[in-house]
Amino acid sequence: IPTWPEYWEKNKFNIPKTLENTEKVDKVIAKKISIWQGDITSLEIDAIVNAANSSLLGGGGVDGAIHRAAGPNLKKECATLGGCRVGEAKITGGYMLPAKYVIHTVGPQGEKPEKLRECYENSLTVAKENHLRTIAFPCISTGIYGYPQRPAAKVALSTVKKFLLENKDMDRVIFCLFLKTDKDIYEELLQKYFTLD
Ligand code: ADP
Repeated sequence: IPTWPEYWEKNKFNIPKTLENTEKVDKVIAKKISIWQGDITSLEIDAIVNAANSSLLGGGGVDGAIHRAAGPNLKKECATLGGCRVGEAKITGGYMLPAKYVIHTVGPQGEKPEKLRECYENSLTVAKENHLRTIAFPCISTGIYGYPQRPAAKVALSTVKKFLLENKDMDRVIFCLFLKTDKDIYEELLQKYFTLD
């Protein structure tokens, strides 16, 4: 696995490998999508999304990793936000992270597609409101919250696709896939969601 800066230099204007040789790929949108396997806290971009819990005061999984990497001031800012409901999204600074901002969203527990869709939509809307152009998502809800990986990936891809079609200012959405199983699922589903009929 290459490091993020190397990957970025090589791939920033490229469409994902799995789409390169696909005939009818939707190039405009596909160019704005990346899949990246690794730790979301290493990404030097405008915003990373945190799969937080309602308290916003830190937890396990990706939430714990983000708070550890950002340092204690992230928790201090989070404590001023009054928590976050399922499907909502709230923005903070990135503190010691290479990312400028963290967008905290709370995923549903279990398979609740409508709520998961809201997480992606509201995170992207918050990014847009703050004029951010590059954003990375972890696989929200698919860890401790137990949403099955494949149905979750379908919600993620369809929601992001719709947003990118409607909002031309977003330059890049990175799906940060920590697990090889998620990488495989996304590689397969990208063909379905980013190919023209
Ligand atoms: P949730 O409570 O929403 O299920 P989790 O943090 O338990 O959140 O899991 C969400 C996803 O984040 C899982 O796919 C997990 O493997 C992944 N993950 C865990 N640590 C990291 C990390 N440092 N960077 C990116 N993804 C991560």
